[in-house]
Amino acid sequence: MRPVVVKIGGGTLAAGTLEDLPGILGSGRKVALVHGGGPRLTRMLDSLGITTRFHEGLRVTDARTLEVAEMVFAGSVNKALARELGALGVPAAGISGTDGPTLLVEPVQDLGRVGEVVRVEPRLIEVLWAGGIVPVVAPLGLGPEGAYNVNADAAAAALAVGVGAEHLFLLTDVDGLLREGKAIPALAPEECEGYVEDGLAAGGMVPKLRAAAEAARGGIEARIINGNRKGALAGAIAGERIGTLISEGVVA
Ligand code: ADP
Ligand code: MG
Repeated sequence: MRPVVVKIGGGTLAAGTLEDLPGILGSGRKVALVHGGGPRLTRMLDSLGITTRFHEGLRVTDARTLEVAEMVFAGSVNKALARELGALGVPAAGISGTDGPTLLVEPVQDLGRVGEVVRVEPRLIEVLWAGGIVPVVAPLGLGPEGAYNVNADAAAAALAVGVGAEHLFLLTDVDGLLREGKAIPALAPEECEGYVEDGLAAGGMVPKLRAAAEAARGGIEARIINGNRKGALAGAIAGERIGTLISEGVVA
């Protein structure tokens, strides 16, 4: 059974999704979690008087923002998730993408300390799996000047390709890529950019669709699902056709 990468979004961090994991792991699946935490970071930046700016869904990250992002993502959010898993009886270790190092990045033009993953070193993840421990990965990567902020959807997609995952599940706070209030059931990867250009996908959905397309081009079935719905993750792994599927197998 190939592994599964699950990305947990800011809005769904505490929504009960994790309760599906003991059952999934019990079936012998290897799971790696990648988390965001943007809303928490924005609140922390606000309280420090640091302004937040986004470009196409990506956070413009100066040196101070990066410092706080590392504190929030690789610190409080990451550790709370690992503790939550522990409380469910799932042994977990919170790591940052810079540990290992696991996620190697190059700077993205004009966004400051934002990185794009160019290489994945899955060794640390595999060591944790071999020990029966679920890796919980904070969205940071190692680049020429140290740590870089990586969009969590993009980090999850890169990791999914890097570990040869079968599925990438992008858990968010909506039912999928919505059109007129309903999730589009399936997309081919080459259709994704069109929805960004025509404006249907905006804000955080832009990096999410691009990440899903990237994973799909790497042979992975990516699915955007609503993590606020109880049992959604377990259902999706069991083959339920919920949310929006992005896959090479879909005919555009
Ligand atoms: P996450 O924390 O899960 O990454 P984001 O806020 O980054 O969540 O991205 C999901 C958000 O994208 C939705 O809550 C919604 O506000 C926004 N969005 C923009 N366009 C769409 C669309 N067409 N369908 C669904 N969500 C969309
Ligand atoms: Mg997001």
